[in-house]
Amino acid sequence: MRAKRFFISTLKEAPADAEIISHQLMMRAGMIKRLGSGIYNYMPMGLRIIRKVEKIVREEMNRSGAVEMLMPVVQPAELWQETGRWQKYGAELMRIKDRHGRDFIIQPTSEEAITDVARQEIKSYRQLPINFYHIQTKFRDERRPRFGLMRGREFTMKDAYSFDRDIAGMQQSYQIMYDAYIRIFNRFGLQFRAVAADNGAIGGTGSHEFHVIADTGEDALVYCPTSDYAANMEAAEAVTLISERAAASAALTKTATPGKAKCEDVAALLGIPLQNTVKSIVLTVETEEKGQIQKQVWMLLLRGDHELNEIKVGKIPGLANYRFSTEDEIVEHFGTPPGYLGPINILPSKCPVKVLADRTVAMMSDFVCGANQVDFHFTGVNWGRDVAEPMVADIRNVVAGDPSPDGKGVLAIQRGIEVGHVFQLGTSYSESMKATFLDENGKPQFLQMGCYGIGITRILGAAIEQNFDAKGIVWPTAIAPFEVVLCPMGMDRSELVKEQTEQLYNALLAAGVDVILDDRGERPGAMFADWELIGVPHRVVIGERGLKEGNLEYQGRRDTEASVVPVQEMLAYLLEKLKSAALV
Ligand code: ATP
Ligand code: MG
Repeated sequence: MRAKRFFISTLKEAPADAEIISHQLMMRAGMIKRLGSGIYNYMPMGLRIIRKVEKIVREEMNRSGAVEMLMPVVQPAELWQETGRWQKYGAELMRIKDRHGRDFIIQPTSEEAITDVARQEIKSYRQLPINFYHIQTKFRDERRPRFGLMRGREFTMKDAYSFDRDIAGMQQSYQIMYDAYIRIFNRFGLQFRAVAADNGAIGGTGSHEFHVIADTGEDALVYCPTSDYAANMEAAEAVTLISERAAASAALTKTATPGKAKCEDVAALLGIPLQNTVKSIVLTVETEEKGQIQKQVWMLLLRGDHELNEIKVGKIPGLANYRFSTEDEIVEHFGTPPGYLGPINILPSKCPVKVLADRTVAMMSDFVCGANQVDFHFTGVNWGRDVAEPMVADIRNVVAGDPSPDGKGVLAIQRGIEVGHVFQLGTSYSESMKATFLDENGKPQFLQMGCYGIGITRILGAAIEQNFDAKGIVWPTAIAPFEVVLCPMGMDRSELVKEQTEQLYNALLAAGVDVILDDRGERPGAMFADWELIGVPHRVVIGERGLKEGNLEYQGRRDTEASVVPVQEMLAYLLEKLKSAALV
């Protein structure tokens, strides 16, 4: 590619709405251009990266035995009504009407469309297993589109759907996809981690997310450096930090704690560790019975230094549709506003409050909690003696230093950006859409499904969050818009420079290298700044002075200095660099 015939449009400053570095750099490098909120033009420089990401994904999907197809962006509402997602998906689902007033959706994902194909096409167990995938535009009307391609409304996803005859087959298909994802993210040249994910209603180890490691990631990843335990914070199991409850040694005492509504403040006032305090969180679950709304109030107890894990709470029987109680509800049941709540002396009411303690809280003794009276806490609280034994569950977020649930070390936490998700679906879609096949005995069975997504466009943002410096982006070679840039100094003035540049350019093209020749005639400073911003991993400078000594200059994007390389050796030198980059 010659720069003059390409489209390069860089900016000194990022627009004000670009909050994170990847969004800023992509805008400055002219890779994307905003058309509307969460909707971007993929400019030529950006599209090259997207195509490289897609190519790697496609190659590895094909290698794994999946077959490519393409499902429509606009899909009839009927399919989504069949599975109930027309209602359930909520405001993220973009609904449109055609000229006849019929309802359609713009696909946020394609389970319905593929299950409709499968129920028509798959008749016999002989056709199984099969895995269909496509790389297609998605639309999700995100509540807060932001961070450029990271959380867009329109984006590109690779989504695959496997069909199997039984659960064992589905698990095998899942493993094949998991392995393909490992190959894909390795080939991108990104640091990533696969973690067990929250898998909604399915249970078991039916879901993993793939995260690009970056401090700016939205997700907290929990892992054990000395074992293979890794899970999203949402799903990571928190074990009790106290293996045996110590005997009570203090008397229950009501203590004045005026104005101290937070565990931290109470601990400071009493001169005790925060770990001796317990905080209370009040939830309400409303259910309808015979047209009457029934309210069940729950008090959840956490150690003062711990945080509630809202996903885990939603999985506890009876808490599926919980919400945080209002202040009025709290006063009604406990006689005090939040800040002074505790499990002792809960007001008698029509419906008893259910008390649920985190695993660690359940093992505490002589602890401090609110007295259900403004400006008072109890100290020396003990289970069994002062208050009935609570129900117990894992309801907290893991913290770094916790024991790993596999017993093989201590947990660490790092941040990640979710770029892929593999999921065992089972028969939820095939049952609601009646997608069956005939087994060996001629009996109809529901298809066992899996689904597997990769956020193609999000990868660009994630890769940059992991690879940038003060000058701009540092692309891993595999997904860089160009592998090599040639920067000739004064090509118009020097015949020698022109000739040598063209020669190297042609030799690189012939060797299959994705090279761009910067023939725009920019000043060296501006030229270098552009390519450093854009993040091309390998740069060659061709100048008359060097050429007279038979040399060119090479600089890798992460190198602090240029290296002098003899003209005749430059091609082999670059090919070697590219080869070792491909091995990373
Ligand atoms: P998130 O929790 O980030 O909203 P999700 O769980 O909704 O993601 P999936 O439905 O599993 O995502 O979609 C598969 C992949 O598509 C994700 O792993 C992510 O890489 C990508 N993706 C999802 N939403 C967006 C978006 N709004 N913009 C860009 N990529 C997205
Ligand atoms: Mg989402």
